[in-house]
Amino acid sequence: MDIQLDKAPCGYFSISDAGIIQSVNQTLLDMLLYERDQLLGRPIEMTMSVTNKLFFHTYFYPYIQLYGRVDEMYFSFRTSDRQDMPVLLNGIRHERNGEAVIDCVVLVMRKRIEHEKDILQTKTKLQELYQATNEANQELERLHEEYEIKQQELVRINLQLETMASTDPLTGLKNRRYFQDQLLASLASFQETGIPFSLLIIDIDHFKSINDTYGHPVGDLVLTHLAELLQSLSRDVDIVARYGGEEFVIILPGNDQQEAIRTAERYRTMTASRDWEEYSITVSIGVATVTQADTEQSIVHQADLALYASKSGGRNRVTHSASLVEK
Ligand code: GH3
Ligand code: MG
Ligand code: MG
Repeated sequence: MDIQLDKAPCGYFSISDAGIIQSVNQTLLDMLLYERDQLLGRPIEMTMSVTNKLFFHTYFYPYIQLYGRVDEMYFSFRTSDRQDMPVLLNGIRHERNGEAVIDCVVLVMRKRIEHEKDILQTKTKLQELYQATNEANQELERLHEEYEIKQQELVRINLQLETMASTDPLTGLKNRRYFQDQLLASLASFQETGIPFSLLIIDIDHFKSINDTYGHPVGDLVLTHLAELLQSLSRDVDIVARYGGEEFVIILPGNDQQEAIRTAERYRTMTASRDWEEYSITVSIGVATVTQADTEQSIVHQADLALYASKSGGRNRVTHSASLVEK
C-alpha cells in the first residue's frame, strides 16, 4: 500500500465478498486500535458488535451485491478495547485481478453525533423553555383577570364608601358634609354665571315634645317620613340634606327670592297637611337668597336668622332673610 493511502485522513479497507480483510490502512488501524497483522486475513466482522454485524449483513452485503456500491452508510465499528466508533462508510465492489473486491473508506462521525446530541439537547431545552413560557403567560393572564376583578371590586367599594360618606344613615338623605360641599359649588357657580340660588333651613316645631310624648323611635320615624316628603317635593336639581337633629337644608338652584318663598311655603303647607296620625307636625323655615357679598357662612347665617324669626313669630311659617333687613 502506498504511503498516501496508508496515512490518508480517512480509514480504508478492502474485503472479499466473504468479508475477509485483504488490506487496511494505518489510519483505520489507529482508529480501531489494531495492528495490521491482527486484521489481515480475518473477517471484517471481528471489528463489529453483534448488533452491528447483523446490520452489516442485512444491509451492506445485499446492497453492494445488488448495486455495486454503498454510499454514506451510518455505521458503528468496535475498537479492540470494545468502544463503539460511529462512522460514515462508503464502499465500491469491483473486479481486481479476476477477483471481486470491496473497497471501503471510513470517516469518523463522533463530532457529528456530538453535534446531533447538542442539537437534540438544545431542542429539548427549548421545548422546556417554551412550555415554561406558556405556563408563565397563562399565569400572567390569570393574574391579570384577577387584578381586573379586584380593581372593579375596589371601584364598587369606593363608590359605596363615597355614598356612605355623603349619606345620613337615619333618613337616607345627603348629610351635612355633602351639603357644605354643594353649597361651596353653588356659590362658585353663582360667581361664574350670576344665576341665583336660594337656601332653606327647615326645623321641626316642638320636636322635643314628640320624643317626650311618644318616645325616641317615633321621633325617628317622623324624621324619616319628613325626609321622604321633602325629597318627594323637590326637583332633581335641588339638594335636600339633613343638617343635623331635626333640621333639614335645601339648596334651590335657579330660585330667586320670590320663587324660594313659594317653594318654602309649599314645603311648609305640605308638611302641615300630611297625615301624621295622632300627632301634628309643622315646620318653621328660614329662607336666604344668595347675594354677591355672600360666603358659605353668611348665607347659612342669613337663613338661620330667618328661621329664628319664623320660630319667634309663632312657628309653622316661612321667613325670608331679606324681610328682616327691610324691617
Ligand atoms: P323648636 O320648635 O324650638 O325647634 O323646638 P324643638 O323641640 O324642636 O327644639 P329643640 O332644639 O328644643 O329640640 C330638638 C329635639 O330634637 C331634641 C332632640 O332630642 C331631638 N332630636 C335630635 N336628633 C334626633 C334624632 O335623630 N332622633 C330623635 N328621635 N330625636 C332627635
Ligand atoms: Mg332645632
Ligand atoms: Mg325644632
